[in-house]
Amino acid sequence: MKNAKILVVDDEENIRLLFKEELEEEGFDVDLASNGLEALDKLKKGRFDLVVLDIKMPGMDGIQALNEIKNANKDQPVVLCSAYGEFKQDLSSWVSDGYVVKSADTRELKQTIKNILGL
Ligand SMILES: [Mg+2]
Repeated sequence: MKNAKILVVDDEENIRLLFKEELEEEGFDVDLASNGLEALDKLKKGRFDLVVLDIKMPGMDGIQALNEIKNANKDQPVVLCSAYGEFKQDLSSWVSDGYVVKSADTRELKQTIKNILGL
């Protein structure tokens, strides 16, 4: 799954661009969404091997988006990603496949993605 398709969902442009660059360097095919609704729309139109989902976003937050994504396709892998301290353990977050603290150092994110995709 070298050319795995990943959808990065984050309301902050600098994070979207950082993750895109870093994940493309790993050989992933990366698409971006800036909010939950845009992510759901992209998931409806195309297939993604994994979704990296920010939690704190205006409008539909990541937990709400996670529930909608899993309701539509319970097998869709989703990694929640949020700034340190933003994340409050919520029953519904348990349905995510992974969780990483947002950082400019993307090693943990990359490793989590690879583990889930079996790379
Ligand atoms: Mg955010």
